[in-house]
Amino acid sequence: MKLRSDIWKDIKHRKNCEVLILGGGVNGTGLMRDLALQGVNCILVDKDDFTAGASSKSSRMIHGGLRYLENAEFKLVRESVTERNRLLRDAPHYVKPLKTSIPISSWFAGLIKSPMVFLGLPVSVGGRGALIVKMGLMFYDIITGKHRVTPKHFFTSKTKSLLEIPGLRRNITCTATYWDAWISQAERLCVDMIQEACAENPDCTAINYVTVTKQDSGTVTLIDQISGEDTTLQPKIVVNATGAWIDFTNKALGLTSHFMGGTKGSHLVIDNLALYQALGDRMVYYEHQDGRVCITFRFLDRVVMGSTDIKIDNPDRAECDDDEVTYMISTLKGVFPDLAISKEDIVFKFCGVRPLAASGFEYTSRASRAHHIEITEPDPDRNFRIYSMIGGKLTTFRAFAEQTADKILDQLSRSRVVSTQDRHYLGAGNYPVDEAGQTQWIERVARASHADKAYVTHLFHRYGTEAETLAAHQDESWRTPLQTLPDYSVGEVTHIARTECILHLCDLVRRRSVITFLGQATPDVLEELSGIMAPLLGWDEPRRKHEIELALTEAKNGK
Ligand SMILES: Cc1cc2nc3c(=O)[nH]c(=O)nc-3n(C[C@H](O)[C@H](O)[C@H](O)COP(=O)(O)OP(=O)(O)OC[C@H]3O[C@@H](n4cnc5c(N)ncnc54)[C@H](O)[C@@H]3O)c2cc1C
Repeated sequence: MKLRSDIWKDIKHRKNCEVLILGGGVNGTGLMRDLALQGVNCILVDKDDFTAGASSKSSRMIHGGLRYLENAEFKLVRESVTERNRLLRDAPHYVKPLKTSIPISSWFAGLIKSPMVFLGLPVSVGGRGALIVKMGLMFYDIITGKHRVTPKHFFTSKTKSLLEIPGLRRNITCTATYWDAWISQAERLCVDMIQEACAENPDCTAINYVTVTKQDSGTVTLIDQISGEDTTLQPKIVVNATGAWIDFTNKALGLTSHFMGGTKGSHLVIDNLALYQALGDRMVYYEHQDGRVCITFRFLDRVVMGSTDIKIDNPDRAECDDDEVTYMISTLKGVFPDLAISKEDIVFKFCGVRPLAASGFEYTSRASRAHHIEITEPDPDRNFRIYSMIGGKLTTFRAFAEQTADKILDQLSRSRVVSTQDRHYLGAGNYPVDEAGQTQWIERVARASHADKAYVTHLFHRYGTEAETLAAHQDESWRTPLQTLPDYSVGEVTHIARTECILHLCDLVRRRSVITFLGQATPDVLEELSGIMAPLLGWDEPRRKHEIELALTEAKNGK
């Protein structure tokens, strides 16, 4: 990608495009990648940074959705499992298998409740026993069975479970274990998709911090949030992929819609060695007394836990409040009563809004996680169609993008020329999947590039096989580790600031890297990073200080 200022100049020269995509989350960027590959020219704009919405605030599970079986959403589970398996294969540098264990408190609980949920009858909250979990996991194995890439589920006795998961509450009957997957850097996946789209199709471009309003019947106005400049564009089609903001965005386009019924969900990132060690390589998936399902798993050298599920009308107001923090810590203490876990262990918290379709369900967990496209036909005031991408999950974005792209290709009377079904993502080409292969790969690249092996290892974990191109930089700055975060080099930070549409320090530490997420966005780190970025992005001293303040506030409040 070019410098953001150059991208804006290019957009100002454009008078039209085939598809204008609003929203740079996983659905918008996934669609951009797909359309670009079909030769469709598109412009993507985000009112904030790319992935500033739910896509950077999810639980990071790439999962079939065991829980959706209870809601009889078999089609969704099948699609999710297929997409999960594709991501494991096509993005192995980001998506890894995840062993998941459920502590179970009784044999028969839920035998009445779960079928009632299945039949759509109202139910009160309460636990699920071993028998009902067994039935769910058997179904899950059957659905996932045909193209199985993960092991089958199994049950473990109470005694063995307590040995394997030290600190787990003792009043369990057994645990059930099955496999799903998790994604380490969903934010980078989205930026990678933009990069791939721009590289594959030079008529495609993407920009952040730009909003949209309707001008007259055939045009929209794009407004640069930074300079205040605007430009007019004539798109053939507009795609509204703004997640929880879809109704707000439609309003800006002069359209009244009531498609969305989002719920906010908060997570905590925790630095607690006892919890980290107790979890080992597994996620613990547990039900709190109030029936809310929570998850806890290792994320690099931290632990992530969540989430809440609370109705919210305006996604801009979503934040992780003190009550949620207290609630989440209490659920953790409930499942690990012997471990000393406290609010002081929290290094980061974040809150996002699930872009769910509007539904009348009292229990938010019953609202479907399926996706669909709403097409609004042109009218006398607006001569382009609007496709609103409603709902979905991180897991299923590729399928959703494909379904939307197919409809758009139809409208443009064009045919699909490239399938994304078995296309690997940036950084996954020739990726060595086993440990021995990875060691060999790292040694080979370190030798060829004369780069430090430990640094090549970090690059490999962050960028997959794209690390080879990065390690090949012979510039001294690539051999100069940051003083405050030696895992990164000055050259790497410079490269991200120059090529990934960075405008703020927050963009780099929160959405192009996991620095804030891991609780590493300290004043010293931000001081050093902003010192590198300032000359590249033309920041004077007051602006640099302001950027540090913004990044510290985000690290503390975790919006
Ligand atoms: C708490 C939580 C937990 C989740 N856990 C999981 C999980 O474990 N697994 C899973 O598969 N899924 C999970 N999800 C769901 C998943 O994150 C979302 O479905 C997915 O990220 C939605 O992507 P999106 O692109 O539609 O929306 P978003 O990622 O929200 O992107 C929308 C973008 O639109 C931009 N925007 C808003 N208004 C405008 C405008 N007017 N013009 C231009 N741009 C605009 C925003 O800035 C944002 O960047 C979770 C979601 C949440 C909130």
